[in-house]
Amino acid sequence: MPFPSQCKYIIIGAGIHGLSTAYHLARELKQRGRGSGEDILVIDKTGIGAGASGIACGVIRNNYYQAAMQALMAHSVALWEEDAEAYGYHPVGYMQISPESMHADIVEIYERQKEIGYTSVLIEGEKDCLEYMRKNVFEDWQAKQITSILHEKKGGYAHNARSVYRLADKAEAEGVRILTGIAVTGFRIDHGSVSSVETSGGRIACDYVVIGPGPWIKDFWEMLGLPSRIDVRGLDGKVHKNLRMWTYWCLQEGTLGLDPSFGMNNEGEMPPVIHVDSDAPLVSSEDGSMITDKTWGIYYKPDFSFKGIQGGTTPYLVDKDDVAVDPYGIDSPEFISGPEFAHVWTSALAHCQKRYEDKYRQYKDEPSGGLGAFSPDNFPIFDAMKPNAYVIADSSHGYKMIGVGQLVAREVLGEEQELLRPFRFSRYETGDLLPESHSPFPWS
Ligand SMILES: Cc1cc2nc3c(=O)[nH]c(=O)nc-3n(C[C@H](O)[C@H](O)[C@H](O)COP(=O)(O)OP(=O)(O)OC[C@H]3O[C@@H](n4cnc5c(N)ncnc54)[C@H](O)[C@@H]3O)c2cc1C
Repeated sequence: MPFPSQCKYIIIGAGIHGLSTAYHLARELKQRGRGSGEDILVIDKTGIGAGASGIACGVIRNNYYQAAMQALMAHSVALWEEDAEAYGYHPVGYMQISPESMHADIVEIYERQKEIGYTSVLIEGEKDCLEYMRKNVFEDWQAKQITSILHEKKGGYAHNARSVYRLADKAEAEGVRILTGIAVTGFRIDHGSVSSVETSGGRIACDYVVIGPGPWIKDFWEMLGLPSRIDVRGLDGKVHKNLRMWTYWCLQEGTLGLDPSFGMNNEGEMPPVIHVDSDAPLVSSEDGSMITDKTWGIYYKPDFSFKGIQGGTTPYLVDKDDVAVDPYGIDSPEFISGPEFAHVWTSALAHCQKRYEDKYRQYKDEPSGGLGAFSPDNFPIFDAMKPNAYVIADSSHGYKMIGVGQLVAREVLGEEQELLRPFRFSRYETGDLLPESHSPFPWS
């Protein structure tokens, strides 16, 4: 097929958002009699799932302190459920297990889940939490100082590569063309709008561009001539001057090389995804030394794709201006999980369940984890940053947000979506930020 010189809609990035947008835009165009997938070109500099979507551990949850995030996640979970088999979606549920400092937040989340019809159970009090875990999930549960559990009956996790490839298949079946190995290097902007996309293969004229670049958002922000630092009006009304627009955190994940069946629940079945935040002292399972007496957090699940017990801990901030995003993911020499992560995570597993007490030796010494780009308030920006250039910058929340592409497709066609309205760039100026939780993670 010849290299295209023009295409009505160009979508940059073949990750979860670019591909979901491509597929849904094709369908929405057809339904409205306004075109088809043949009007859409997806461009990726490497390949399908080459970015964060290809390494995400795939957790899908509703547990967010922000009502706007909860509503958006409920929409996405409905889309996962629509074609669970194709996307490799495992609706095993999700458990947020928390210390007293997070108790009030969790009650609020639960109340909102009731309002929006997202099925969950709330358990409160240390004794009841321990009993619930031992009776219903893991009889060897032993985590201390837990006073609330939110057990989401929906959500769970999905197989990262499988879901992006199926989305690509679905988009291609609608007539979308996916061009890989072609890098976008700039935009030609005429009268404030993008008239063409400059690529390593040549210039492609377009009417509309959707940019879903994951951790490479900073490059595209610059290409659009947007500022690298901004003033942000905080929730307290104060203006915080000259903040970095994009900040990087390294997401730390890894796998215990045990048969996934080792992590099953009391019935021998796949348990919910477990997320534990705790302020109980964390002690090394290897040598008994104190790791931390501050709040820590982990998540984990048995996972047949990762061939073991897979999960992660809180990410760490990469506090510098120039961050090498490439080579990305497991190819990065700098931003992969190291021995310190392995020590904390395996010790935390042992803190939670007896069966992991002597399993730190099974940690798989292979590259895992990767960079995420975060916005000034750590929440997504979904907005048209030029009249015909829509940016999907999910602030690293996003593999689970498979439905955002459907909503973006509708906005591209001129129909504003209520669910996306809280995520406009203008919130930094107006101070309409999303509320902050007490979680130790930047994305809760
Ligand atoms: C280790 C890790 C674990 C995670 N776990 C979870 C999880 O459990 N649940 C969850 O919901 N989220 C998770 N996330 C976050 C989630 O993976 C991301 O938010 C999401 O995948 C971003 O999707 P995307 O489509 O925006 O970007 P990406 O998947 O990163 O896709 C962007 C694409 O753009 C392409 N690209 C970049 N620059 C150019 C260019 N110049 N020209 C052309 N193409 C270009 C890249 O090659 C890439 O394929 C995790 C992230 C990491 C790093």
